[in-house]
Amino acid sequence: MGFEEFILNLVEGVASANYNMLGTAFMLISIVFWLVVTSWIWVDSDERTTNKWMRFFYVLIGLIPVLGWIIYLIVRPSETIDEIYWGDLERRYLKYEAKDLGDCPRCGTQLFPGFIFCPNCKKRLKRKCSECGVYVDMEYKYCTNCGNKMQKSIKKEKEVSKEEMQKQIEETKEEAHETVKSKKSKYKTEENFINRVGESVIKGYKLLSKKVGEILSKKKEENVNDDEKKRVKKEEHVGKKDESDKQDRKKYYTRNEGHKK
Ligand SMILES: [Zn+2]
Ligand SMILES: [Zn+2]
Repeated sequence: MGFEEFILNLVEGVASANYNMLGTAFMLISIVFWLVVTSWIWVDSDERTTNKWMRFFYVLIGLIPVLGWIIYLIVRPSETIDEIYWGDLERRYLKYEAKDLGDCPRCGTQLFPGFIFCPNCKKRLKRKCSECGVYVDMEYKYCTNCGNKMQKSIKKEKEVSKEEMQKQIEETKEEAHETVKSKKSKYKTEENFINRVGESVIKGYKLLSKKVGEILSKKKEENVNDDEKKRVKKEEHVGKKDESDKQDRKKYYTRNEGHKK
């Protein structure tokens, strides 16, 4: 049975059940929407995982209308594969950029690229290759320029602890994530129809919940205002009996208003 036939049968079935046109249209729109969202989940999960079985699982969850979609938005990997790739690339680049920006292992002075000795304690940071004369890091076994085997380094200073190193890497990781999230990288995701529908569903949901919140708070305010009006009216009614009394009250109100401001 073809897809069109299926839809036609469905329409016939719905029509014969003596629904009105509006109901039929609503049903159709709901079904189309459901199909679009489910296929969006298939496409969206492709950007987040390479595991086909996980993608089938996500689509299976997505078959449950609304609840399944919310569950998918919660359980799907928060980063797309591209975001992870670019994040990793930026992290590595930052590590490369910051390589010579360490601290002196002996006295902790801030070092800058090109330093061969620590400017504070004269600790040797780089040594000259005996073959080609290029300065390489003290811990390198071979010259990075000519491949000459370097002499064993004299004695090792206290090494930076693994925890310290991990902490530094984590920090650059966070920074890289921020950069990727702020869309500062030149990379752009390819937009397609299903993607856009999915994004607009999320946007629409956020907008709707915001609007509902606004309406609710407005209603509350109106109720309060109504009460206030009733109270003022009542007081005015009483005040008619004594004009001077009313004047006094007015003065009191304006004074109070002034205080509030
Ligand atoms: Zn130093
Ligand atoms: Zn060399």
